[in-house]
Amino acid sequence: MRADPEQPAITPPDTGTSAAQALAALRGSYPEFAPGEVWLVGAGPGDPGLLTLDALAGLIQADVVVHDALVDARVLALARKGARLQFAGKRGGKPSIAQEDISALLVDSARRGERVLRLKGGDPFVFGRGGEEILALAAAGVPFRIIPGVTAGLAALASAWIPATMRGINQAVILATGHVSDDEGSLDWAALARTRQPIVLYMGLRNIGAVADALMRGGLPAGTPAAVIASASLPQQQVLVSSLERVAADSQAANLSAPALVVIGDIVGARQHILDARTDRELRAASVPDGAAPLPHAGSPCES
Ligand code: SAH
Repeated sequence: MRADPEQPAITPPDTGTSAAQALAALRGSYPEFAPGEVWLVGAGPGDPGLLTLDALAGLIQADVVVHDALVDARVLALARKGARLQFAGKRGGKPSIAQEDISALLVDSARRGERVLRLKGGDPFVFGRGGEEILALAAAGVPFRIIPGVTAGLAALASAWIPATMRGINQAVILATGHVSDDEGSLDWAALARTRQPIVLYMGLRNIGAVADALMRGGLPAGTPAAVIASASLPQQQVLVSSLERVAADSQAANLSAPALVVIGDIVGARQHILDARTDRELRAASVPDGAAPLPHAGSPCES
């Protein structure tokens, strides 16, 4: 398999030494990446600030970084100087590399004695096919380590000022995929609607109309608050606040693009209280601009 020719070549800066010193100072030591090992690592939702220290330890030691499309270029730039960066992911609509080929690539690289970092957006075990890759490594007898990441579902909510749980509002959070492949059948949306707990939809933008209809048929009120959070944690983050009934049309009108998460439930309503409670200090400190400014789509409830 070859690297994707469209992926811009990144020359990592020589951050290794200073990062190694910082990690050692913080933790006394950091996990050593042995040749022939594969680390399956979550890179978080995009903002390099949400990377874990163990992910950074992996980046500064790896010989090859096999990454998916959601991993931010600033995260890849932390890789050791001389490390190979190899794209192995899906990119909107284009044919993707088969899962078996990715697993084979990881196994082959490890058998050559390379330190292989498999870097995935968010958490590798949340809608990331990390389970399949680990099973393939185990079957091939390749030693591995799993390093969790901050999953986009939770990071997006916090970045958009929506509490994932709040006393008096919800006691559970449902993480679901809006993209259901033919061989997996469909989720029982009516059953999810009956729980009255918020639903966080990964990969949900394309099917949001169908999912919203199924939830309403299942008894979820049309006026239930819903939000779409696009490019969470990144400078171009956008938050659209709507209702179950209108979210499909509103997100289409706002021309929101992937990656985006949809959250449906009364916790979305808590956002306004949090926005109202902010002081000037929090407004100045916000890492992601929050949208007091008018948007390109005049009149739409979308904020950037
Ligand atoms: N393993 C990842 C999820 C991979 S599925 C994780 O734990 O986060 C890909 C989906 O994740 C996207 O379709 C989108 O719904 C969501 N996603 C990932 N990064 C995102 C981001 N920065 N902002 C909004 N949604 C994101």
